[in-house]
Amino acid sequence: MKVLISGASVAGPVLAHWLHRYGFEPTIVERTPELRHGLGGHAVDLFSSAAEVTRWMGCWDAIDAARTRIDSMTMERFGRRPVEVDLSRMYAGISSSHVEILRGELTRILYDASRDTAEYIFGDSIASLSDDGSGVDVTFDSGTQRRFDLVIGADGLHSNVRRLAFGPEEPLRRWLGGYLAVFSMPDIFDVGNHTLAHLSVDKLVGIYGVHQTGQTRSGFLFRTPHELRYDYRDKDEQKALLVKEFSNYGWRVPQLLEHLESAEDFYFDSIAQITLDTWSKGRIGLVGDAGYCPGPAVGGGTSLAVMTAYVLARELAAARSDLASGLKSYERIIRPLVDQSRRIGPKLMGTIIPGSPLALRLMPFAAATLAKLPTAMQRFIWSQNAVGKTLSSVNLVQPQVSQSVA
Ligand SMILES: Cc1cc2nc3c(=O)[nH]c(=O)nc-3n(C[C@H](O)[C@H](O)[C@H](O)COP(=O)(O)OP(=O)(O)OC[C@H]3O[C@@H](n4cnc5c(N)ncnc54)[C@H](O)[C@@H]3O)c2cc1C
Repeated sequence: MKVLISGASVAGPVLAHWLHRYGFEPTIVERTPELRHGLGGHAVDLFSSAAEVTRWMGCWDAIDAARTRIDSMTMERFGRRPVEVDLSRMYAGISSSHVEILRGELTRILYDASRDTAEYIFGDSIASLSDDGSGVDVTFDSGTQRRFDLVIGADGLHSNVRRLAFGPEEPLRRWLGGYLAVFSMPDIFDVGNHTLAHLSVDKLVGIYGVHQTGQTRSGFLFRTPHELRYDYRDKDEQKALLVKEFSNYGWRVPQLLEHLESAEDFYFDSIAQITLDTWSKGRIGLVGDAGYCPGPAVGGGTSLAVMTAYVLARELAAARSDLASGLKSYERIIRPLVDQSRRIGPKLMGTIIPGSPLALRLMPFAAATLAKLPTAMQRFIWSQNAVGKTLSSVNLVQPQVSQSVA
C-alpha cells in the first residue's frame, strides 16, 4: 500500500515511521526546499502518551537531550512585584512525563527516525487530487503525476490537502479571539535558561532563552475585539500590525521591537482552531493540525499530532486492505481526544492572557502557589480544574498495541 503524506513537521514523520513499521510504503512531500529543522521556530511540548509514542520510535533519548531546559519564569506586571514560578514543578504536577523542545529540533529527530524507510520529496506540493475509489491520482506542482492508495494531509493549520479535499479554510476555522507573534533575537536581557513574561489586560509578552544558540525567542499574545484583516503572506504588514498593537506598551517591548525588522523567522497568525466533523473523505485523510488544530501555542497541538499520527497508522494496519474502515476506526478513537483538546485553547487563552484587572492580579500568584504544592496535590488540583481535565485527558490516551509490530 502506497501512502502519500503531505507535510514533514511533526505528524507527517511520525505517521511515516509507523506506516513503514506496519508494512506500508510511505512517501512524504514537503513544501519547503529542505527540512524545516534547526534551532529556529517555537518551543513545543510533548506530554505523557505522546512522549511514550516517541519512546517506542526510539527517539526519546534524542528528544530528551534536546529539551529547552527552561525551568523557571518571572512574571512581571506594571506597578507590582515580580512573581517567580517554578515551571519544572508545574509541569511535573500536570504530567508524569513532559519535555519542551524546539519544533525544529523535534522535526529533525522525527525525520531521522523515518528518513531511511520513507521517500522524502522536498520543495514540492500537491496541485490536484483525484480519488476514483480504488486509488488517488496526484499531480504535483512540479508537474509529476503519481498514483497512491491513500493520501494524508499532515500539512498544518493552513492545510493544502484539506483545502483540496474539504474546501476552503474559512468556514472550518474558529477564531479564539487573539493573535500570536514569535521571532528570534539576541539575548539582550541575559535571559539564559529562563522565561521573562510581562502581563497586562489582554496582552502577554514573553522572552525565553535558547541554550543551543545563546539567542532568545520573543513571543507576543494579544486579544482583539474583532478579527484583524491582513494578508497572511505579507510579513511586513504583519510586523506593522504587531508594532501598532505594542508600540505604547512600555516594559522591555521597545527594545524587543527594535529586532523585529531583522528577524528572519518572524511568525504571525491568528489563534484559531480547525473544526471539521470528519477527517477523511474516501481515500484522503487528515492528521494533526491539518485536521483538528486546537490553536497554536494554547492547545497542546504537538502531543495531539504525535498521538493521532500513531493511532492513524495503527488503525490502518489493523484494517489491513480495508482503508475506509481503518480511517473510520481512527476517527472513532481520536474523536474524544480532539473534542477535549478543543476545550483547552479557549480556557488557556483566558488564563495566560488575563481578561480583567482581577485576573491580572490573581493569575501570577495562583501559578506560583500551584507550582509550590507537592506534586500529588498539584495533580489532584489539575484533575479538578477544567484546563487540567482537558490536559490530562490528552495525556492519558494510551496507545494500545505493543511496540513489536514491525
Ligand atoms: C508560535 C507557536 C507556538 C506553539 N507552541 C506550542 C506549544 O507550546 N506546545 C504545543 O504542543 N504546540 C505548540 N504549537 C503548535 C504546534 O507547533 C503544532 O500543533 C504542531 O507543530 C502540529 O504539527 P503538524 O505536523 O500537524 O503541523 P505543522 O507543524 O504545522 O507542520 C505542517 C507541515 O506541512 C508543511 N506544508 C504546509 N503546506 C504544505 C504543502 N502545500 N505541501 C507540502 N507540505 C506543506 C509545512 O511546511 C510543515 O512542515 C505552537 C505553534 C506555534 C505556531
